[in-house]
Amino acid sequence: MTVHGVGRATVTPIVESTASFDRSVVFPDAAPAEWAQAEARACRSAPRQEYDRLEFVVQCFLIRTPESTVLIDTAVGDGKDRPRWPRWHRRTGGVLLRELARVGVTASDVDIVVNTHLHIDHVGGNTVSSPSGWVPTFPNARYLVSREEYEHLVELPGAEHARCVGDSIAPLVDADRVDWVEGARQVIPEVWLDPTAGHTVGHMSVRVESEAEVAVITGDVLHDPVQCARPDWSTRADDDPLVALRTRRDFVERYANSAAVVFGSHFRSPTAGLIVGPVESRCFVFLGEGPRTTTESDHPRDPAATT
Ligand SMILES: [Zn+2]
Repeated sequence: MTVHGVGRATVTPIVESTASFDRSVVFPDAAPAEWAQAEARACRSAPRQEYDRLEFVVQCFLIRTPESTVLIDTAVGDGKDRPRWPRWHRRTGGVLLRELARVGVTASDVDIVVNTHLHIDHVGGNTVSSPSGWVPTFPNARYLVSREEYEHLVELPGAEHARCVGDSIAPLVDADRVDWVEGARQVIPEVWLDPTAGHTVGHMSVRVESEAEVAVITGDVLHDPVQCARPDWSTRADDDPLVALRTRRDFVERYANSAAVVFGSHFRSPTAGLIVGPVESRCFVFLGEGPRTTTESDHPRDPAATT
């Protein structure tokens, strides 16, 4: 578990689980050869993904300052009915609280929880089961939730949306733990929420600025570092692909070739890195991994390496 300093704040990724997805399902518009080529260019630093697979991390981020403890997203959580997603269905093990304990944080220590958006892999840990039903996991926290997204979600048809609202959001509303977010917002002196709609209607990214140092937590503006080179590739999960594309381009432009450390919410470990290079050869350099030269032997099954 790596703790990253950002001025007087720290950012720590808290991993709940990892999974490997069929890349073509998540990014249906990217042909295999194109993907391999873009990945070889965009992700020259380790770690490498298996050919045409997508290494996908479900994680939260702990932001600490001397005064505040802020948790960004809460992952899938335990005990939630997610029949469409077998690996996330009725999870057990209390991973989120266990991993927080490893860095010395208890549920009671968390002052603020931010949900970047209201998809099941970002809100499930908001609540835990109790004899009286679902209750807030973090008893002293205010939960920051996009009002527009919540109002949109409760109107959407479908059992999955209803389940997610019912077990992970509504109990917070009932317990009067929600502070509704409308537009850009400062959370604490070092942390801002930036509207980044597209993946969902009320999506927010999280910016940390302190003592001239900057970090940003993407939320699901980006799902894989290859999108730094190919922001035109949307995932199947983007609610509005055209808005998502514009937001993703703006986001990559904003942080490219700056000192901002980018934490990709689903990027494989070590998650944090820098967006560097001109637009035609942009890449994501993971921190702690020096750039390396791509050779044919790095891609034995990569069709791009044979042309
Ligand atoms: Zn997600």
